Amino acid sequence: MKTIVVIEDDAITRALLQQQLRREGWRVLEAEDGESGVGLVQQNRPAAVLCDLHIPRRNGFQVCRLLRGTPELAGTKIIVTTGSRFGNDRLNALAAGADEYLVKPVLPHDLSRVLPDLPSDPPSNGQLESPPAHRPSQAVELKNTGLFGTGHTFAPERADLVTTVRFWGVRGSIPTPGPGTVKTGGNTSCVEFRCGDQIIILDAGTGIRALGGSLAKEFKGREMNLTILITHTHWDHIQGFPFFGPAYNPMNKLRILGYESAVGGLRTALFEQMETAYFPISLSQMAGRVVFEELEDMRFQIGPVAVHSVFSNHPGICLAYRLTTPGGSVVYMSDHEVYLRQERLTQEKGGKVNQAALDFARREDEKMAKFIQGADVLICDSQYDEAEYPSRLGWGHTCMDDTVQLALDARVKRLCLFHHDPDHDDAKIESMVERAKKIAADSGQPLEVDAAREGQEIVLKRPAKGS
Ligand SMILES: [Zn+2]
Ligand SMILES: [Zn+2]
Repeated sequence: MKTIVVIEDDAITRALLQQQLRREGWRVLEAEDGESGVGLVQQNRPAAVLCDLHIPRRNGFQVCRLLRGTPELAGTKIIVTTGSRFGNDRLNALAAGADEYLVKPVLPHDLSRVLPDLPSDPPSNGQLESPPAHRPSQAVELKNTGLFGTGHTFAPERADLVTTVRFWGVRGSIPTPGPGTVKTGGNTSCVEFRCGDQIIILDAGTGIRALGGSLAKEFKGREMNLTILITHTHWDHIQGFPFFGPAYNPMNKLRILGYESAVGGLRTALFEQMETAYFPISLSQMAGRVVFEELEDMRFQIGPVAVHSVFSNHPGICLAYRLTTPGGSVVYMSDHEVYLRQERLTQEKGGKVNQAALDFARREDEKMAKFIQGADVLICDSQYDEAEYPSRLGWGHTCMDDTVQLALDARVKRLCLFHHDPDHDDAKIESMVERAKKIAADSGQPLEVDAAREGQEIVLKRPAKGS
């Protein structure tokens, strides 16, 4: 008997793979998240594992590392199956222990190539460890760290909970100060999100330094309870953290949330950028009560804010967040490359048409539009214009025209162009906004579009009954 474990969160992809593999004589076991997948592998010691990278409760890189850390599974072939075309993801997956890396859609001949004549399952001496109990994916309250209490659940009747969004850093890649960027701002990603007295900081780019100063003025020595929600640990999203004043005040409580990256933990990334070679104060010397929580589930609650997350199309592990409050919903998708244009251009450059891959890319874009559907505000990567994009293909960022189309497809009310390119000055961004407005107007849909700018504030308030 040859057993294969398929770890994949998309039910359609799982069913297709299962069909193909059964035809080839495999006994197929399925898991929809990393944790239960690892449990199945440890229990059954299969000949092979097919594992997606973007899965909840342990991403694919983590699964590879966990399995490769178990000597008894040395004979098990690990095949990563992923929608990611990024070269770095391939290298990181192979470094984490994968034997093969297949870009979706995975077709029968791909499987025959990587699963040629595998022997039957390795002899079993019983299961290796008790597999973790399967927990269905659902909204969960984050662990109570003892600092923040257990929070409370979403209360739609609380119309008094005004939601505000304020931009402190809107730039991608690297800070760009100077006379050409004064109107838009030159700091890297940082957005303040408030609902009632809940303060959530989206990313810790250099914009977080001024936010820290503003909070210090507002709180005047009173204790702060802050949550920082990180999309990913690329430098432009964490480099401001060492300069965040409130983290140095022993009175303040700071909770940092995010998902494990392709190569390691969230705390490790923030810790390493403050090592002696790079910064004079270490993270452990910060006097504030700072706790890290690595997220596993895709839905969770932060006080009155319901958070839903998805993996975006960006090298490594990068998340987009949808925050829903009584005032409305805001989607923060700082770094994302729209699938279809990436696929189409890749094929054009390679001189070959692959219809299945184009269909797959289209479906992935549709999934993203569904995630964003009906948002009051979409803050979205729109780093390049149409002329620039081809030379930046596969860099993990989107052509602005596609961002607008995504917002239109998802019937978003307001779009904030975000993650501005360091080479784009105020005049360039203004011209991109004009083009974005024209695309929106031509569609006939009432989409409001502007560029996110430092200092800009958006207030969401649920309209009073009857209005
Ligand atoms: Zn970025
Ligand atoms: Zn990034």
